[in-house]
Amino acid sequence: MKPTAFDYARPETLEEAVQALGSHPDAKVLAGGQSLVPLMSMRLAAPALIVDINHLPGLDHVTADASGVRIGALARHADVLASADVRRVQPLVSLALANVAHPTIRNRGTTVGSIVHADAAAEMPMVLQLLGGSVDVVGSGGRRTIAADELYVAPLESSLAHDEVAVEAFFPALPAGSGVAFEEISRRHGDYAMCGVAAVVAVEDGRVTSARAGYLSVSDVPTVVDLTDALAGSVDDAALARAAEAALAQLEPESDIHATAAYRAHLAKVLTARVLTAAHDHAREE
Ligand code: FAD
Repeated sequence: MKPTAFDYARPETLEEAVQALGSHPDAKVLAGGQSLVPLMSMRLAAPALIVDINHLPGLDHVTADASGVRIGALARHADVLASADVRRVQPLVSLALANVAHPTIRNRGTTVGSIVHADAAAEMPMVLQLLGGSVDVVGSGGRRTIAADELYVAPLESSLAHDEVAVEAFFPALPAGSGVAFEEISRRHGDYAMCGVAAVVAVEDGRVTSARAGYLSVSDVPTVVDLTDALAGSVDDAALARAAEAALAQLEPESDIHATAAYRAHLAKVLTARVLTAAHDHAREE
């Protein structure tokens, strides 16, 4: 299918982009186009005006320092995945990105675009929320920072205002004594997962002091669950079984053409135990 007719703007500055977005109630940002263009081709989206941000200067950075990782709106998934600094400062970003789509899509799709597209089946919105990251946006009201737990309001809906452009995502660095892990199950590598789980575990003097897990493709928005109490300090079989049950109690798996709710619940439990174990092992290596 072909998209419906639309107007096209190619601003050269952020101010022009914000103005263009504000000029039409049906305007949409185009970044990598790897989600928007398929939606338009299927006529599930029909924006009247496309605001192509690919020519805005200064938005393709990928930087990492002691505080964390900063990713500009025009950095492609592949740029972020290729960064050894990102892998060192916040390895969960790299672990999750390796599961995002295929190389051709990662060459064009942007990590920030994925974050604000707010798909509960996507890896990076969940990872941003699990790590307590944020997104900086610029609109007619100026620049503001949106914390990840205030970003996802409904399926495919973020809290960005209509005329706001997301300019940068921030993922905090992995603290000393913490470990991370990521696992997902999809029918083919690179497909959207039927279920994916990530964990961040902190260990002090051999005991687990904090454990959180994030879930994708299980509920209709990315979901983060605190499992510290369920683990009660250790990661033995009994603690893992308790944590998996505690996680499931806070999730509402749904059925669709890819998997039944019961199968998703099963995957969530199995993957919870796996990622908690792996994140715990990683924390002890740190
Ligand atoms: P676009 O498609 O350009 O935009 C997506 C939406 O976000 C639009 O509504 C747009 O207006 C908005 N937007 C984008 N950037 C900004 C910005 N800076 N400010 C404000 N709004 C903005 N993704 C996964 O996470 N996991 C997968 O397994 C996966 N598999 C895929 C498989 C296929 C076959 C395809 C085609 C895509 C897949 N994707 C997957 C999606 C891919 O990761 C996209 O790149 C990503 O979701 C969106 O990034 P984009 O830059 O292409 O955004």
